[in-house]
Amino acid sequence: MLKLKNVQAFYGNIQALKDISMDIKEGEIITLIGANGAGKSTTLMTICGIVPVRSGEIIFEGQTINKMPPNKIVALGISQVPEGRHIFPYLTVMENLDMGTFLRNDKDGIKQDLNYVFTLFPRLAERRNQAGGTLSGGEQQMLAISRAIMTRPRLLLLDEPSLGLAPIVTRQIFDIIKKVNKENKTTIFLVEQNANLALNVADRGYVMENGVITMTDTGKNLLANENVQKAYLGI
Ligand code: ATP
Repeated sequence: MLKLKNVQAFYGNIQALKDISMDIKEGEIITLIGANGAGKSTTLMTICGIVPVRSGEIIFEGQTINKMPPNKIVALGISQVPEGRHIFPYLTVMENLDMGTFLRNDKDGIKQDLNYVFTLFPRLAERRNQAGGTLSGGEQQMLAISRAIMTRPRLLLLDEPSLGLAPIVTRQIFDIIKKVNKENKTTIFLVEQNANLALNVADRGYVMENGVITMTDTGKNLLANENVQKAYLGI
């Protein structure tokens, strides 16, 4: 579904991605784990067209996307839930969700998807008229995921969904991620610092260090890998 081929990306003179190659198949949950500053968010931002690819190629369903503007990439079916959520604090829950539909005009589909996110997160339905900025951290994460679902993505990119959340809320969010993958057939690309959590839900994982992919295997095998255990699982 998505291929990254020898992708290089820079911030000024700093090279953040060094020859990254990845492969995501339709229906999978893929995770990218790594320490702070490894280049995980940058990887997602190159896929979305926010950080330019200096060399290499990103292919989504046979189409080269790395020279497309972000709105075109969203229209193809790729949506990102950014780190820190970035919801609109002064807009209500409903208005935030509407923002996810600005490229759509299928009224019935939009209604259906709205019902779907309210079934996933009944809490948001209860708070539909509340300003986004007054929601708890967990509720804001639910809103950010829901807003992305409202774009009806086939590939959903999630950047650190567990960041700053209590363990119980994190578990809820991860259960929903699995549900969206299974029920909605949405392919998931999950960036996480919580490697234990991420590798437990992922079919396959990639490990990134200093802008380089150093390992890839099934989630299960990475969990059992001694180097991964030492570096990322605190075992
Ligand atoms: P974290 O888990 O801390 O979010 P990450 O793995 O997502 O880290 P990135 O945010 O992709 O890492 O950062 C990769 C490298 O690029 C880091 O060295 C970072 O300092 C640098 N970087 C990221 N954004 C910028 C920017 N806007 N300008 C300059 N350098 C940047």
